[in-house]
Formats: sequence, C-alpha cells, structure tokens
Amino acid sequence: MTFSMAERRRKFWGWGWEDEGPDAEQQGAIADILKQRFAMKGIDVRKPPTEDELNLPESRIKPPDSLAALCSTKTYDRAGHTYGKSYRDIVRAFRRSYDHPPDLVAFPRTEDQIIDLLDWCSRDNIVAIPYGGGSSVVGGTEASPNEYRPVVSIDLGGLDQVLEIDKTSRAARIQAGIFGPALEDQLRPHGYTLRHFPQSFEFSTLGGWIATRSGGHYATLYTHIEDFLESMRIVTPTGTVESRRLPGSGAGPSPDRMFVGSEGILGIVTEAWMRLQERPRFRASTAITFDTFLAGAEAVRTISQAGLFPSNCRLLDAGEAQTAGAGDGSSAVLLVAFESADHSLDAWMKRAVECCRDHGGNVPDDAIKTVEKAEGARGGAAGAWRNTFVGAPYLRDAMVAMGLVVETFETAITWDRFPEFHAAVMRATEYAVKEICGSGSVTCRFTHAYPDGPAPYYSVIAPSRADSQLEHWAEIKQAAGEAIIANGGTITHHHAVGRDHRPWYDRQRPDVFARALTATKRELDPSNILNPGVLIGEL
Ligand SMILES: Cc1cc2nc3c(=O)[nH]c(=O)nc-3n(C[C@H](O)[C@H](O)[C@H](O)COP(=O)(O)OP(=O)(O)OC[C@H]3O[C@@H](n4cnc5c(N)ncnc54)[C@H](O)[C@@H]3O)c2cc1C
Repeated sequence: MTFSMAERRRKFWGWGWEDEGPDAEQQGAIADILKQRFAMKGIDVRKPPTEDELNLPESRIKPPDSLAALCSTKTYDRAGHTYGKSYRDIVRAFRRSYDHPPDLVAFPRTEDQIIDLLDWCSRDNIVAIPYGGGSSVVGGTEASPNEYRPVVSIDLGGLDQVLEIDKTSRAARIQAGIFGPALEDQLRPHGYTLRHFPQSFEFSTLGGWIATRSGGHYATLYTHIEDFLESMRIVTPTGTVESRRLPGSGAGPSPDRMFVGSEGILGIVTEAWMRLQERPRFRASTAITFDTFLAGAEAVRTISQAGLFPSNCRLLDAGEAQTAGAGDGSSAVLLVAFESADHSLDAWMKRAVECCRDHGGNVPDDAIKTVEKAEGARGGAAGAWRNTFVGAPYLRDAMVAMGLVVETFETAITWDRFPEFHAAVMRATEYAVKEICGSGSVTCRFTHAYPDGPAPYYSVIAPSRADSQLEHWAEIKQAAGEAIIANGGTITHHHAVGRDHRPWYDRQRPDVFARALTATKRELDPSNILNPGVLIGEL
C-alpha cells in the first residue's frame, strides 16, 4: 500500500493525478493571457520537482516489528505527506523545500492498528499527524519546523469502506479514510448520496471533512459536514470514544460537536454514521445578472430569508463571473439552482426569481423550468462555472509554476455588517496587492448563504516572482486577515484553522474557550503527540 491509488499516482508535490493538468501548449496559452492581463514582460514556466531532486533528511525512527509492515520511508510517500495543498505548499514544493518531512508514513487498515500506532507514538514521544487526503489548505498536515521530536504521518486511506446502510433511518456507517468518489460509488447502487461535495471532493476524505468541519458545494441548509453527522468513533491516545446514533439529542453538550473540527489534535476519527439523502431527480437552475454585486447580495439575502433553501445560490462579482466564463465582466451573476428527489421545483424557482426581480435582477425568459435528469444544472453559465470550479486546482498549480500569486481566502459575516465588511476587506486586499505586486485582481463570490449572513470567498491573482511568491502572499494574507478580524468576520468559514490561521484564530476565539480546549487536549492526549501546534499552542 502506498500513497498511490491503483496504478494511477497522485502528484507528491501538488493537486491531483500525475497525468492530469494543463500540458505545455495549454500552459503557453495561459501564460499569454496572464502576460496580457497583468502587462508582464515574460513568464518562465518552472518544472515541478521530481523525487530524485529531493534530498530528504534521514528518517530518525524505526517502527516496532509489529507495525513495520504498515510503514514506509519511501521518498515519494514522505514527500507526499510533507505538505497539504495550499498555495504556500505548492510554492514550497516548487522551491524543492522539503526540510521537515515526516520520518515515516504509516498506512493502517484497521482501528486496532491505529490504536497500536498511537500507543507507540505516546510511548516513544513521537508526533502523530492524522492524514486523510492531504488537501488541507491551512498547514493542517505538516509538522512544525520547530518540532524536535520525530514525526509519523498516519495516512487513513486504507479505511475506505461503507460498512453498513440503515435504509429505514437513511444512514450509513462509513470508514473515515474513504475518498469522496469511492464513498459516492459505494452509496450509488443503493440509490443514496451523502451529498457533500467540497471542491476538493476527489482528493479528500470523510475523516478529513469531519476533522475540519468542511463545507460542501451546496449553498444553503446543509452546508457543513456536521449537518450530516449522526454519530462517530474517534481513537484518542487515552481511549476510544463512540457517540450514540441519534437523530437529535438534548443530553448535555454534544460529544460529536466537541470532536467535529478538532483537526486531528484530540484523536483520529475512524468511522461515522452519516445521514444520507435520496439521489436528486428534479433540477432547476438559472443565471441572473445584476448591475452591482450589492444588489445581487440583497437578492441572496431575500432568498435565504424566504426559506427557499436553493442547492446553489452562488453570487459571483463581475470579475469572478468573467474569469469563470459565466459572464462578460460587466455585471454580477447569481447562479440559482434547486434540486429534489421528490418534486418539481417550479414553485421554488418562481419565488426565487421574484426575489431577484425585486432587486433589479435580469432574469432569462426560460428561468422557471424543472428538468428531470442529472444534467439539468450543467448547461450555460452554471455549466461553465462548474467546469471552472472542478479544473481550478490544476490551473492554480500551473500559475504557481509561472511565478504568480494565486490564492483564495474565505469568511462569513452577518447581513447587517456585510456591505461595510466587504468594502473594508476588498479595500485592504486590493491595496496590499497593488503595493506588493504592482497589479493584480481581487474578486469575490458567495460560497454559502444563510438567513443571517453570507460566506464571501475571495480570490487573488497577481504577478510575482519565483523568489518572492511566498513573501508576497504572506503580506497580502496578513492584510486580508487583519481586515476580516478587525471588521468582525471569521478567519475561516470552512477552510479550517490548521497552523496558518492560528494568529487570527487565537484572537477570534474566547480566551476561556481556549483554556477549556487546551484542558481537553491535555486529558485526551497527555503527551501532546497529536498534531501539536494546530488549533492551540503549548499545553
Ligand atoms: C483545491 C481545494 C479545494 C478545496 N475546497 C474545499 C471546499 O470546498 N470546502 C472545504 O471545506 N474545504 C475545501 N478545501 C480544504 C480541504 O479539502 C478540507 O479541509 C478537507 O476537509 C480536508 O480533507 P482531507 O481528507 O484532505 O484532510 P487532510 O488535509 O488530510 O487533513 C485535514 C486536517 O484534518 C486532520 N485529519 C484528517 N483526517 C482525520 C481523521 N480521520 N481523524 C482526525 N483528524 C483527521 C488532519 O490532521 C488535518 O489537521 C479545499 C482544498 C483544496 C486544495
């Protein structure tokens, strides 16, 4: 067992499969567009690292004989588990900077093996980093550069089965290391779906989603993974915790809520009972344009507060719409979609369209039409946007190779503060981009919309240089993070905290809560072996 799935290998240095991503000709075309857009003189396209270029430090540990068969010290495995998949991670990979890889990677296939691994790590004072798909964008799976102890990355990809389906309650017991596509493949024959599709779906796992409180593609109602979580099992260094399967419970603080979002610092999620849904048959979708982003935002607020709960309610500002091929850059575009396994959606769409018209939305003539097939939502602007969405991570890595700054950040804020908040975040980020990179673009879309506020998601693209990319992004992120926290937002709506968001998270969370979380960690992981430095500091 290695980091690769079947014969196809994942890139150890970046997003996705080794055989996918823009080829040389496509990269040339992208470079031409970027040169024109940012008036850049020339663009060098750097080559990604190869295994033989890496000079990893020697592994400092030898596993006990009973665990040796699960462990690998191969360069491919250690390098592939050194970083997550943020912009910062890809830039460091292109710099061939692999100074702190895990000493070894363990590939358990059973819960007992995970218990044995944690026992070994606790006994020998070895850091243990739970690893799902490694798609963290916040430094959640990397060891601290200041860590003096040896490090084991525990790859959970071997726990990849849907174990049981309860058709009566419409729930399934699922192992935590399963990747999105395998999970859906195993549910499909039964007519069910988990219906949780983060953009990283293809290369992230159920356990990672639970550990990071991930946000799916659907914009309203069930947005985060915990909305689907019925109960879970988690192995901690001091014992295994299993919560009861219940549709709801008022019995004190929820154990699940304590562990959801714990980012691997309290224990390793091994399996969970997840609530399922019937696969949708009816779909209706349309794209509505607005003269301004704020007019579109008002329409989204009205739709959210009307209790319509569309599956998609994604407002793209003019720049974002143009980049995604969903608009010409002159107006904001709102993608609205409804889905159901049960009923036609004309009434819902009709009401959503009314909300949009009330706020100046230009609605296409054929907007209100339910389609009874899976492809219903895939044409036109919505289809263009979806294709861009799925291919974006490969494109991002190509732009890293060209020396650009290309990264996103996301947040959430209540509606009453949204206009001022958004203006302040845009101002601070655009100013930083211009000061630091000379030019560049900052665009915004809503990924999720709640009755009390939206989750805005910002994308930054700016010219930079191979030797300055990291530093340039750090300064821009600093400006954006400050604006978010100073104006009352959250440093993350769904990307998690990891190591990278700690400076702002530490200010956002209440001090007494931080003490309670630290005390919990001390109780469950007294040797502080599990992902130290993520979420909280010293014990
Ligand atoms: C291109 C791209 C798009 C993305 N889109 C989204 C998106 O739409 N929505 C979203 O929410 N996020 C998104 N992310 C971020 C990332 O995919 C999520 O945080 C995801 O939930 C991580 O899952 P993973 O299996 O890859 O976990 P990993 O990256 O392996 O780990 C993430 C964290 O969880 C811990 N962990 C992993 N598995 C377990 C386990 N079984 N038990 C305990 N701890 C564990 C790790 O130690 C780490 O701290 C995106 C990332 C990329 C690169």
